[in-house]
Amino acid sequence: MTEPLSLRELDAISVGRLQGVGPQRQASLREVQIETVFDLLTHYPRRYVDRSREAKLGEVTPGQEVMVVGDIESVETRRTRNRKSIVEVSLFDDTGHLQLVFFNQAWRAKQLKEGLTIALFGKVDLYRKQLRMTNPVVDLVGDRTGKIIAIYPQSEKAGLTTWDIGRWSTEALRRCEPRGIEEPLSRQLLEELQLPDRATAFKAIHQPSSTSEVSQARNRLVLDELLRIQLVLRIRKIRRLESASGIAHKGDSPLVTSFLDRLPFKLTTAQQRTMEEVTVDLKTEQPMHRLLQGDVGAGKTLVALHALLTAVADGHQGALMAPTEVLAEQHYLSLAELAEGLEISDDSTLTGRRPLSVKVLTNRIMGAERQQVIKGMQNGSVDLVIGTHALIQEGISFSSLSVVVVDEQHRFGVEQRSVLRERGRSDGKWPHLLVMTATPIPRTAAMTVYGDLDVSTLDELPPGRMPISTFWVRDDTEAVWQHLRSEISQGRQAYVVCPLIEESDKLDANSAETTMDLLSEGELSGLRLGLLHGRLPAIDKKETMDAFRDGQLDVLVATTVIEVGVDVPNATTMVILSADRFGIAQLHQLRGRVGRDAHRSTCFLVATEEISEDAEARLQALEESTDGFALAERDLELRGEGTIFDQKQSGRNDLKLASLARDRVWVERARDLAAGLVNENGSLEQHEALQDEVRWFVERRDDDAENLLRG
Ligand code: ADP
Ligand code: MG
Repeated sequence: MTEPLSLRELDAISVGRLQGVGPQRQASLREVQIETVFDLLTHYPRRYVDRSREAKLGEVTPGQEVMVVGDIESVETRRTRNRKSIVEVSLFDDTGHLQLVFFNQAWRAKQLKEGLTIALFGKVDLYRKQLRMTNPVVDLVGDRTGKIIAIYPQSEKAGLTTWDIGRWSTEALRRCEPRGIEEPLSRQLLEELQLPDRATAFKAIHQPSSTSEVSQARNRLVLDELLRIQLVLRIRKIRRLESASGIAHKGDSPLVTSFLDRLPFKLTTAQQRTMEEVTVDLKTEQPMHRLLQGDVGAGKTLVALHALLTAVADGHQGALMAPTEVLAEQHYLSLAELAEGLEISDDSTLTGRRPLSVKVLTNRIMGAERQQVIKGMQNGSVDLVIGTHALIQEGISFSSLSVVVVDEQHRFGVEQRSVLRERGRSDGKWPHLLVMTATPIPRTAAMTVYGDLDVSTLDELPPGRMPISTFWVRDDTEAVWQHLRSEISQGRQAYVVCPLIEESDKLDANSAETTMDLLSEGELSGLRLGLLHGRLPAIDKKETMDAFRDGQLDVLVATTVIEVGVDVPNATTMVILSADRFGIAQLHQLRGRVGRDAHRSTCFLVATEEISEDAEARLQALEESTDGFALAERDLELRGEGTIFDQKQSGRNDLKLASLARDRVWVERARDLAAGLVNENGSLEQHEALQDEVRWFVERRDDDAENLLRG
């Protein structure tokens, strides 16, 4: 065999084949998910020490920020009177000495051993006539030589040092040399993109001879990661279009027209455009697979209803699935109201017409009522049904479901989405699917996570909305409660969101109850307060929500159950306690509960304790912007991919090097490339190496390869 090594082959060679990697080392490597040579080569350096920029110890002067490299002469640990640790290290090179002091980093004594070579970055100062660095950044260089030294993420726990990893990756690359590493992209393409080939890139990222080489190599390997994902998405999309067929609707029916005519306001341009995009999809036999994203209050509900009515107008059914009961109820109320008075043709009635039937199905609906709804769904007398996951329970079926809307994708996941589609399948027809999300995600992220969905964006708010003023309250909350009381005295209402304890319903409920008690006896005494949290019985939740909506309550004290969908335009004040515990997206969602009318609204982010720098950045972002898309970009910058992929979602580990915030242009390029490479049958026939690589990639993700490529 003289062909260059493919990634599949590299992924089949155990790291145990490398020198010095015995069973014990192999076990340590496994702890950090390195099992194969491919894993090792894609275990990328965290940063580099550029020794050409290094200062000699004899040359440094006080006040200077420098990078120095030296050997450790001695390490001592002391304790201060109040039991704080001080680790003092003495460093030397062939020109002089330098003292290092680490405060409160007792573990340094274990990390820094006599004789080790380390690189340091920090500011030099003069202390008792000695040159000294305090709490510098430390990189262990080990015995490695070279102008630029790669520093790997190391694992104290697994007992792996950066030079172990460096040594093994150097060896692995050297042993790949006789056969070389396969380059699946054409020379011409690489030239156009001004990228090195893959083998060169691997070599340069692990053993660079200049920093400019690193960035080129990085781009090539980033493209590798992103292109694989885009190819899978592209193939999946084409295969889906090819294999599934749905119902082609007439669109623009009298039912839809009369619905639009009766709206008390004009559609926004964005709503018109989006409805048009959806209608085009619904008129074809290929089942729609579309993501509708829009900021809070952008008016997604209307777009959803428009799609559902398009199905109903042709004698089929529509279903809307929401993540919580509160939200399902809310949707039901607004859809039922919007659909009030609409009629559809029905030959079995005397007039040939009957009122449109809209029902709700949650776990709150029980007994005979429940049976009736379920029966109506089966026999087709129910036209529209809104519900929670109750809609996808065993024993539920539809007469002819042709449009499914799923709200708040983040809370359902791909799994449930496909169950609902599956349930709706009849006579081999698939329902059209519209996924709505009120958590805007940056464009490039959408391309990566929802790349197989078409995307419609509502990027415009209905006119007449007053901007929400947002304040981060750092110390005294008195002004907050004063403002709230004054709004209430003018007939408005308010929300108070309780501190989020953790991902635990129970603790959140306790926190809500405590907050409720404190407020009702203290700051908000005399006002009519209602309590809402996830642990209350459904009936109580509904009663409280109804009372608040009807204006019988002034303040709703709640957990994040109100995050989505709750729509009470008269509410103008939002107080979020311990706001530093929430993420940007969540704060933005919560804030979106106010400002839903022409009243001036205010959101207070209360964080009076000392908070982390990250939390400060989040609260500041919220103060500065009310644009969900801008905030999503900011969030991506601050937190990285974690914002987009949840733990279970595959995909997260596929991006070891690429950053959706930093590598936006490469996401777009990868997508364009994939579109050009995959042919109209959803295959990479003309690109054998890539074809095999995609197959390997999908198998490696533990997904059912056939399914993913087909699904
Ligand atoms: P979203 O679900 O996108 O957050 P909704 O669909 O709940 O937003 O709409 C928010 C509010 O705006 C609702 O009260 C709705 O009736 C109203 N609304 C929707 N579209 C328009 C429009 N074009 N003009 C005025 N008000 C609108
Ligand atoms: Mg909504």
